[in-house]
Amino acid sequence: MRRVLDASALLSGASFDGELFTTPEAVAEVRRHGSTPQLDATLALKVQVLTPSKEALGAVDSVARETGDIARLSPTDRGLLALARSLAATLVTDDYSIQNVASRLAIRYETIVEPGIREVVHWRHRCTGCGKFFEEPITECPICGSSVRTTRARAREESSPRSLRADSTRRHGPR
Ligand SMILES: [Zn+2]
Repeated sequence: MRRVLDASALLSGASFDGELFTTPEAVAEVRRHGSTPQLDATLALKVQVLTPSKEALGAVDSVARETGDIARLSPTDRGLLALARSLAATLVTDDYSIQNVASRLAIRYETIVEPGIREVVHWRHRCTGCGKFFEEPITECPICGSSVRTTRARAREESSPRSLRADSTRRHGPR
């Protein structure tokens, strides 16, 4: 499983399984909070830092503009969304406005929560006329022309005990 981590996920001290990614801007944000040897090791060994394509950024911008969320997104947020979208990855973030746009873009996301209570949200888009599901957020059904409604496809996913584990040896400091 691919995960894109935002700054708060990187700073949380939680460990994540799978292929991990983030953006240069998110790394810069993390660096502004200072660094620990643990964080440096995570960034050096476990997390691939990638810059999202202009195409992916453009797709994020056009949806965020449509939904009115664009003003609430920082350039860092937009980059993380674009990267998650182009990698078909799950975005790990506690930021509500990022989550909101992620849902509009049909990007799966996880919140940084206590171990074992991981929630994965996946949105699908269903035609109110013919009932067909679409993975992409569209407003009008290309088959019958009816309006398309966004629905929650799956509210919860069983999490494996190892998939998200808070570091119990450290207290969670203020972010
Ligand atoms: Zn239809």
